[in-house]
Amino acid sequence: MYDVIIVGAGVIGATIARNLSRYSLRTLIIEKNSDVGDETSCANSAIVHAGYDPHPGTLKAELNYPGHLMFSQLCKELDIELKRIGSLTISTSEEESAKLRELYDYGIQNGCEVEIIGQQRLREMEPFVTKKAVEALWAPTAGIINPFELVVALMENAMDNGVELRLEEKITGIAKETGGFMVTTDKGEYEARVVINCAGVASGEINNMVSDKKETIRPRKGEYYVLDHFPAPYVTHTLFSVPSSKGKGVLVSPTTHGNYLIGPSSEFTDSAEDKGTDAPTLKNIVEQAYRLVDEIPMQYVIREFSGLRAYHDSGDFVINSPVPGFINMLGIQSPGLASSPAIGEKAVKMVGELLPLQEKAGWNPRRRPLYRVNTLPVEKRQALIATNPDFGQMVCRCEQVTKGEVVDCIRRNCGARSIKGVKKRVRPGFGKCQGGFCEPLIMRILADELGRDENRINYSNRGSFILMEKTKGE
Ligand SMILES: Cc1cc2nc3c(=O)[nH]c(=O)nc-3n(C[C@H](O)[C@H](O)[C@H](O)COP(=O)(O)OP(=O)(O)OC[C@H]3O[C@@H](n4cnc5c(N)ncnc54)[C@H](O)[C@@H]3O)c2cc1C
Repeated sequence: MYDVIIVGAGVIGATIARNLSRYSLRTLIIEKNSDVGDETSCANSAIVHAGYDPHPGTLKAELNYPGHLMFSQLCKELDIELKRIGSLTISTSEEESAKLRELYDYGIQNGCEVEIIGQQRLREMEPFVTKKAVEALWAPTAGIINPFELVVALMENAMDNGVELRLEEKITGIAKETGGFMVTTDKGEYEARVVINCAGVASGEINNMVSDKKETIRPRKGEYYVLDHFPAPYVTHTLFSVPSSKGKGVLVSPTTHGNYLIGPSSEFTDSAEDKGTDAPTLKNIVEQAYRLVDEIPMQYVIREFSGLRAYHDSGDFVINSPVPGFINMLGIQSPGLASSPAIGEKAVKMVGELLPLQEKAGWNPRRRPLYRVNTLPVEKRQALIATNPDFGQMVCRCEQVTKGEVVDCIRRNCGARSIKGVKKRVRPGFGKCQGGFCEPLIMRILADELGRDENRINYSNRGSFILMEKTKGE
């Protein structure tokens, strides 16, 4: 009998798992994919929103502002990249300026640090902004984060503190029983006193397994272009369009690794599996982005991707308990990432109303830091190489990642098991060559570390082999 079963290891499930790992509870998190954070939590704008956008009085407003502040401590404890570069929401017309003032008022009511700045200051701060810009809403506490690292780090720390993780298990049924629930997966059955539904775009289905109050979550797709890092100066803040009924609109933003994101679109799709991109949508994104900046160096585009928002008709987060002991995290679309630390705290309070929460004596909030060899000064690199020559063997030239870092990310709790798993943790494959040079090397390291043939190494989920079989002899 588990005390708590969490459905889904995205940023919400992993945050709650880590928060619960502080207490003497037996907690299990079940994820259908081969890795944590492989759905919406790895396909978003990666902005730690400052909290001026949600309508005051909503759950989004309640959780975004405090959540975004909590990242400073969280990222220190877990060694996650966070840069508070600030955001600028750009108005290019009188009509947009009226909306900007509404956002400013929301910001003040939500407790945020916000300011409306005029053309001159805007241009000094962001020389690449469109000449048509009239003014902007400046939110200095907004940030950018590495969302891949975030979910892995949360889960690793949760596991270091005793949480169990089961990957490649899809929950197919939840039945209320006396004193708890029977959770059925495609591999087995588990009993738990409390179940927390953090299944993202599938959270409606999970709710409907156990609750009579049926819920619908509609996937709303957002497509992006990714630009490589390049030496010339470019935007240094997150530039937002003025939001519309479809969401926050297209942005142009640096990432924590010096790449740039252009996007996202916002269109409903019928399938929770629809993660493709298409030329007309991408063309439209670029047109929208030209309303923010006069230049977009499209020659640096290295990738396109899309993510699915978990849209609930209320437009708000829905955090409730329709059946005693069953807790829903529904409709956690943007600013879900920015709000996640506060959502995690709220979840613990709800669990505390159901189970006794006794703090563990040896709870460790810290994760062993990553090596990040390319950020070390030469002497420190040399010292590290002297302890282990793998740190001198470069496997990814674009992102400057060594074999030592790849091996380390496989050997940790919640370690990488696939090529994408390594990419998300330490970045080989994120650069200009998109894995063309490093993928065979990563495959070999994974094969050695996991004791498998190279043709049994997955790109991501089970069965996504890159090599199928040998075509020649040894
Ligand atoms: C285009 C886009 C841009 C965004 N930009 C931002 C932003 O800049 N800032 C921000 O704050 N927020 C942003 N968001 C929102 C943010 O990404 C989400 O709120 C957040 O990632 C949701 O996390 P989650 O854990 O709820 O969902 P997910 O990450 O989708 O995790 C749910 C998990 O549940 C698993 N699961 C589902 N069904 C089952 C089952 N039956 N059995 C087992 N496991 C199951 C899934 O495999 C998945 O891993 C954006 C979202 C999108 C789509």
